[in-house]
Amino acid sequence: MTETNQRALVLFSGGQDSATCLAWALETFAYVETVGFDYGQRHRVELECRGRVLAALRESAPALGAKLGQDHTLAMPLIRDLGATAMTEEMEIEYGENGLPNTFVPGRNIFFLTAAAVLAHRRSLKHIVAGMCETDYSGYPDCRDDTLKALQVALNLGLESRLVLHTPLMWIDKAQTWEMAHDIGGQMLFDLIREETHSCYLGDRSKKHDWGYGCGTCPACHLRAKGYETYMRNPAP
Ligand code: ZN
Repeated sequence: MTETNQRALVLFSGGQDSATCLAWALETFAYVETVGFDYGQRHRVELECRGRVLAALRESAPALGAKLGQDHTLAMPLIRDLGATAMTEEMEIEYGENGLPNTFVPGRNIFFLTAAAVLAHRRSLKHIVAGMCETDYSGYPDCRDDTLKALQVALNLGLESRLVLHTPLMWIDKAQTWEMAHDIGGQMLFDLIREETHSCYLGDRSKKHDWGYGCGTCPACHLRAKGYETYMRNPAP
């Protein structure tokens, strides 16, 4: 078995950010497992993207893909239940300015990271890598660096472990996230992330744009498109 210090677990949803974090982890560590969460999300298409990205990494980027280990999917219906329970029956499901439905569960990332930490602990994966970002995000307090640092301490105390939580995107914007993908894996990885990952909150893969698939109008599409356009004004050579 690879030395524990070289073993990582990536929270991999199938989106652009987590795919870039996965590439970062594959570049940084010797052995990398992945975990995704199935909570009945509307954009289930994201979960379907996961397998395609993993297969494409193995096939087109063998130097990175060879380090891939087991992929886990954890069912988390609790997340949906907590959202639904908070709703009254008469209330319509509406989408707020942040693009998330009013069933969205605050603190969702705390659940995900806690589940990931237990999995990592059981599988002797010292490093946990996740795509939270404080730079251009929708303002969720559970994406903040301080939340994650506090959570690392709490999880290590509660699990009697020395897990390390990495968030390589925390202080960069979406244009720099595209740049990071290019830096790690060149045009091939950049194109793979553009084509195969998914960000759109509505799960729309029927419309293709320069920056990938999506409805083109939801906040996640806006953020992805804006970052792409900014990056393309000054792309890596
Ligand atoms: Zn969209």
